[in-house]
Amino acid sequence: MTRSPATPGTFSEPAKKSLGQNFLHERGVVDRIVQAVNPKPGERLVEIGPGQGAMTFPLLARHGALTAIEFDRDLLEPLTVQAAPHGALTLIHANVLDVDFTALADGAPIRLVGNLPYNLSSPILFHALDHAAAITDMHFMLQKEVVERMASGPGSKVYGRLSVMLQAYCEVTMLFVVGPGAFRPAPKVDSAVVRLTPRPAETIGIVDPRRFADIVRAAFGQRRKTLRNAVSTLMDSDAIAAAGIDPQLRAEQLSVADFVRLANHPVAA
Ligand code: SAM
Repeated sequence: MTRSPATPGTFSEPAKKSLGQNFLHERGVVDRIVQAVNPKPGERLVEIGPGQGAMTFPLLARHGALTAIEFDRDLLEPLTVQAAPHGALTLIHANVLDVDFTALADGAPIRLVGNLPYNLSSPILFHALDHAAAITDMHFMLQKEVVERMASGPGSKVYGRLSVMLQAYCEVTMLFVVGPGAFRPAPKVDSAVVRLTPRPAETIGIVDPRRFADIVRAAFGQRRKTLRNAVSTLMDSDAIAAAGIDPQLRAEQLSVADFVRLANHPVAA
């Protein structure tokens, strides 16, 4: 069903749960995000899911220009109307997962910002990783529990595929926690703002990104199993040992550097 705003240029209620719409209304939180992003003249900001403009308008007022990607057609007109006094908003009506950030950047790296739809957090993060070379940094509001997974290390119960994949390609910094009361409607969980800074390509050291992703996925797919069992279809025990890793370890005991060593170990012909 398509709904339109009651009055052109104003936002309609209610928020759409299916689109992860929890709109930020606490000005103090918005200010902290804008400060964390701290856009400099000439930089290109791209917001994912501007919603009712909680971050869009202050970022526009500060920076003068912004591109925003919004899937909800009903929000486009009010966003356009209300953004006008603040600065130049370029709105892209699309599913962010279909947006080619590399093409959007067109040689001039972009800075991503977003209070993400929580139901799509992981797909959006992996999609951004695919375009990491075109992205200077990302500031995202996510479920606190997801940010903890992203930032955790070996030995932690929440260390997993998301931690290894993100940390291999980005520096991950949890900035601050935001309670449910900052949003309308209030989500059931705490949120947190995280900064992801893609590492320079030459320092990542992964020879074959696809093999790296396959090994990490297999290792954590059966995280209670020893490595030799979990990745058996990709590497045998001798190859794991030759890469300098004890095949009896479990995935959660390996550092990101260990996974890079495993994945870079030459595959027998
Ligand atoms: N930035 C606003 C704020 O902080 O109040 C809205 C945040 S709300 C959590 C997430 C936003 O992402 C909503 O505006 C929603 O319509 C939009 N959204 C959901 N799925 C999307 C998708 N696949 N592509 C682009 N935007 C999407």
